[in-house]
Amino acid sequence: MALPRVNAPKYELTVPSTGKKVQYRPYLVKEEKLLMIAMESGDEGQMITAIKDIIQECTFGEVDVTKLPMFDIEYIFVKIRSKSVGESTTVKISCSSCSQMSEVTIDMDKEMKVTESPDMLIKLTPELSIKMRYPSMNDYLDIINSKDKDIDKIFNMIAMSIDTIFAGDDVYDVKNESKKEVQSFIESLNASQFQLVRDFFESMPQTSIHVNFDCEHCGHHHDMDLKGLKSFFN
Ligand SMILES: [Zn+2]
Repeated sequence: MALPRVNAPKYELTVPSTGKKVQYRPYLVKEEKLLMIAMESGDEGQMITAIKDIIQECTFGEVDVTKLPMFDIEYIFVKIRSKSVGESTTVKISCSSCSQMSEVTIDMDKEMKVTESPDMLIKLTPELSIKMRYPSMNDYLDIINSKDKDIDKIFNMIAMSIDTIFAGDDVYDVKNESKKEVQSFIESLNASQFQLVRDFFESMPQTSIHVNFDCEHCGHHHDMDLKGLKSFFN
């Protein structure tokens, strides 16, 4: 006889980059198993793939996960996880004064924010501007799974994040250009122009959780933001 199935409750979230409302459910034991196997592997590519599969399942196929930027992925995953394993999570945070670890309990669902978007248009010269786009999860996976040297990975990431080039009255849609063309465009930038592009990456939106705690060892008070998925789960 077929055993009864438990119906999972449904919730709603707003995708940070698009503002689109999406329904989701908590993940189930079979999905948690996938996640644990990936975590044990310690491989970033496997982790991201497991998170991608879980988001796809738990949002009823409503979002194309592969096209979303990483901060959306992190945000959606934390939402799903907080309904799956409980809203409050204990994390270990190192003290900025004595470097010892304190256990801090945070309500991730309630406290999580996504930091503001930077200006997507970068003015390189009075005549030359570029419009950026956020690399998608797929772009990111391609990069970390590639065998390229780290410096090439950075250049590839920059190349795939340039959406449009404006030179005077000419507009270039970068996705129609060859990888080689885009690479030589980047290599033609001077150091301060290149820095503007790097600044864009530094200021890309991130998931962030505000924490407020006193160190268990020296009592030092902390009022800070934890940024990025990795800092929420340790
Ligand atoms: Zn301390």
